[in-house]
Amino acid sequence: MKIESVRARVYEWRGPTVPPQGNFCSNAMDLVYDNRARSVAGGDDTMNTFRFHAWTVVEVRTDDGHVGLGNVALAPRVAKAIVDEYLAPLVVGQDPWDYEYLNQRMYRATHAWGRKGVGMAAISAVDIAIWDVLGKSTGKPVFKLLGGRTKERIPCYYSKLYRTDLDAMQKEAKTYLDQGFRAFKMRFGYGPAHGQRGVVENLKSVEAVREVIGYECDLMLECYMGWNLEYAKRMLPRLERFQPRWLEEPVIADDIEGYAELNAMGIVPISGGEHEFSLLGFRQLLDRRAVSVVQYDTNRVGGITMAHKINALCEAYQVPVIPHAGQMHNYHLTMSSLNCPMSEYFPMFDVEVGNELFYYIFEGEPVARDGHVDLADDVPGLGLTLSTKYLDHFEVTG
Ligand SMILES: [Mg+2]
Repeated sequence: MKIESVRARVYEWRGPTVPPQGNFCSNAMDLVYDNRARSVAGGDDTMNTFRFHAWTVVEVRTDDGHVGLGNVALAPRVAKAIVDEYLAPLVVGQDPWDYEYLNQRMYRATHAWGRKGVGMAAISAVDIAIWDVLGKSTGKPVFKLLGGRTKERIPCYYSKLYRTDLDAMQKEAKTYLDQGFRAFKMRFGYGPAHGQRGVVENLKSVEAVREVIGYECDLMLECYMGWNLEYAKRMLPRLERFQPRWLEEPVIADDIEGYAELNAMGIVPISGGEHEFSLLGFRQLLDRRAVSVVQYDTNRVGGITMAHKINALCEAYQVPVIPHAGQMHNYHLTMSSLNCPMSEYFPMFDVEVGNELFYYIFEGEPVARDGHVDLADDVPGLGLTLSTKYLDHFEVTG
């Protein structure tokens, strides 16, 4: 079996979107002065870096007729250019079973500029599509090629609860509690730019969600890199009484020492990794004991080949992996590792920030029941096909 072609297409959503709430999640731009002014005034759209309305879909086609699907969610047009110009020539004509060699080839050939960020995301998409081909050509789901089933079903945590008014957040939590979820992740709306009023608002929102879900459910808290070290150090003791399972990405992804300092405080476990890349990037996080939970995304870290190695590394450090975003490429890794106790789960909503776009592009993404998802034992590959249902709402390039 040989790879015959690699095609990258950009899917850009042109359909209706839900207007964003002002500052529904703290983010790294909050500390930049022009954004901060609008964010303090409230109501304005300060969330433009938190919108993912386009994806790159990569199709790897083999000479015996298998087509594997992979995807990139970061900088989609740039990712497409990287796949077309740099990666496709490295894998076309090659045997997809040589996936380790092909992964190393892509990683090393683009190393000068590609080792973190969109370069690795593009490599990930090609690698994921190669694994989809391997599953399809053997008639087995990808998780069976990675170690097989380690759990009956995958427990999921409900991930949304953007900062809106507290009544709306409570209603949302109640709806998904009633659907059987027993773990929830909420977003903070405020950070260092919002002063003591923001501190109070942040604490009020956690209290409001805890009031609904009680203390027998897990509660995760998301900062999306919108705080800084000093602010996070002030917040941790105030958050302790709410017993969060973790505090996610309190500082920017490059501040590994900041993560390490916060995690060493031992007050609330710190999580991160959705903006980290490669096996060695994760070794740095683990060596510094910077995170208590690793949250890589398979479509950023170098694909399934690399994520499988990161799983092994984290297992050796006894740091659990709970990948970013759910989604098929992550579910297969989670199913096949005992060190991956649960998954993030973005429910399907009307298109808002774009996390939910996966459901609109692909068919086959599992829907949670009683707070769990499952993977079929008899669906080969990743189990995704390209959906035609919403195609009218996309502009597709490539
Ligand atoms: Mg996150």
